[in-house]
Amino acid sequence: MLRTVLTRTFPRIVSPVARQFSAAAIPAPNGQPDVHFNKLFINNEWQDAISRKTFPTINPSTGEVICQVAEGEKADVDKAVKAAKDAFKMGSPWRRMDASHRGLLLSRLADCIERDAAYLAELETLDNGKPYAVSYCVDVPMVVKCLRYYAGWADKWEGKTIPIDGDYFCYTRHEPIGVCGQIIPWNFPLLMQAWKLGPALATGNTVVMKVAEQTPLTALYVANLIKEVGFPAGVVNIIPGMGPTAGAAIASHMDVDKVAFTGSTEVGHLIQQAAGASNLKKVTLELGGKSPNIILSDANMEEAVEQAHFALFFNQGQCCCAGSRTYVQDSVYDEFMERSVERAKARVVGNPFNLSTEQGPQVDEEQFQKILGYISTGKREGAKLMCGGGVAADRGYFIQPTIFGDVQDNMTIAREEIFGPVMQILKFKDLEEALERANDSKYGLAAGVFTRDIEKAHYLTNGLRAGTVWVNCYDVFGAQAPFGGYKASGNGRELGEYGLNNYTEVKAVTIKVPQKNS
Ligand code: NAD
Ligand code: MG
Repeated sequence: MLRTVLTRTFPRIVSPVARQFSAAAIPAPNGQPDVHFNKLFINNEWQDAISRKTFPTINPSTGEVICQVAEGEKADVDKAVKAAKDAFKMGSPWRRMDASHRGLLLSRLADCIERDAAYLAELETLDNGKPYAVSYCVDVPMVVKCLRYYAGWADKWEGKTIPIDGDYFCYTRHEPIGVCGQIIPWNFPLLMQAWKLGPALATGNTVVMKVAEQTPLTALYVANLIKEVGFPAGVVNIIPGMGPTAGAAIASHMDVDKVAFTGSTEVGHLIQQAAGASNLKKVTLELGGKSPNIILSDANMEEAVEQAHFALFFNQGQCCCAGSRTYVQDSVYDEFMERSVERAKARVVGNPFNLSTEQGPQVDEEQFQKILGYISTGKREGAKLMCGGGVAADRGYFIQPTIFGDVQDNMTIAREEIFGPVMQILKFKDLEEALERANDSKYGLAAGVFTRDIEKAHYLTNGLRAGTVWVNCYDVFGAQAPFGGYKASGNGRELGEYGLNNYTEVKAVTIKVPQKNS
């Protein structure tokens, strides 16, 4: 029975990471993981907020409160920054630690996460709503791979020796930046934590992380593993709390040397302004997108339909790189539309702990209402509702897989990030037109191209103004490959070797070399 469920579910999770699970059984979830940690993690200790305030975290499948969580604010951020600053002082255990040992700690952290994979996957699903099969087979394995990848870099991030003119020895040191503020979103809570911690810790920084108020639980469990594997006190501090209080306090803090943010473009502007108005801390941003996915008439239609479906609907549509403008060449438009509607209607929406579920609830009431608002706007502006369009359950935040046809470039649903299970299909005639329209967006995070013609593929991949271009695939991520945005989709790159630059200061050292013994 389990085997049938898996073969039905897994071909649809097309992530390469998920593939390794296709033959394996996944542990059956009980759907009610206990919560062990709900306080602030500062200096390797669990602490209440100074104000004693708490906030509820909600199970989006039911709308019910899971538990209360300590709510950090500015005073708590101050405390965490002090701990991180002390941990970064010259001569501290962290600064004196061998780079290879930093790598070993990251590697042990990955081992512990792997050990507790089933529990973490359940907790992620409870707090975020994503299907457990996805948490277990995609999110957690990608976290483990990311941490192991950066563990390997810890003692390999080398500087250079440089042949400057004169009798000098010149070399560069790659040094940590210092105290790094990291503000993460709710769509991939564990994975965004790993993307941020991996490069920051491999390069020897200390961290004050604010987790999203919608999904604080798994990051706090990982905090305990950080302590368990032996990271010194103060190296990682984790503050659950709200954006305008705890988040803003990090962005404007005078003792935070760098801030890394993933979330909305709107808040991205605020982070960069706060950095500019305070101490000019370094800023990296990973923001939204409205990514084009271009389907050419020569594409393998079955593959293109399935991948375009995945590109938009994966993770309840809550992906910054979602292929949310699906451009289809006119000669195959009708066929593509018909098959896409059929696929969307077959999408299994429901209890995320059920192993055959493909789509769970949206993360919270606010996102749920926002998406329903975009669906109304789409109808009002004249797009054609092909399927879905409504609520999918009588409680929780479930939305039907929705497709709009006859979408025009100037419609709100073709320009703004919806962040939900709502697909926009647009028609185009030729390649030049497709490229121009695809690039006509303030965003530039990702893009997709489906074709069997290598020349057309090169023409489009070279011309698309986006940080990632997938050809005949979508959402293929590896810890080894950089990810980030052009234009208003952000600055800096995460993952891969490029990701290390964001956490490094380069120091040039020049030493006079005497030419004879005197
Ligand atoms: P958001 O940008 O408000 O939240 C992301 C993180 O930033 C959270 O931790 C939040 O607490 C924090 N934050 C909020 N205001 C802040 C401030 N003033 N200073 C510092 N930190 C602050 O996103 P949201 O409101 O949860 O979602 C709104 C939209 O953002 C979504 O509909 C989606 O379009 C987009 N979004 C994008 C991503 C992504 O991966 N790029 C992730 C989540 C949301
Ligand atoms: Mg917000």
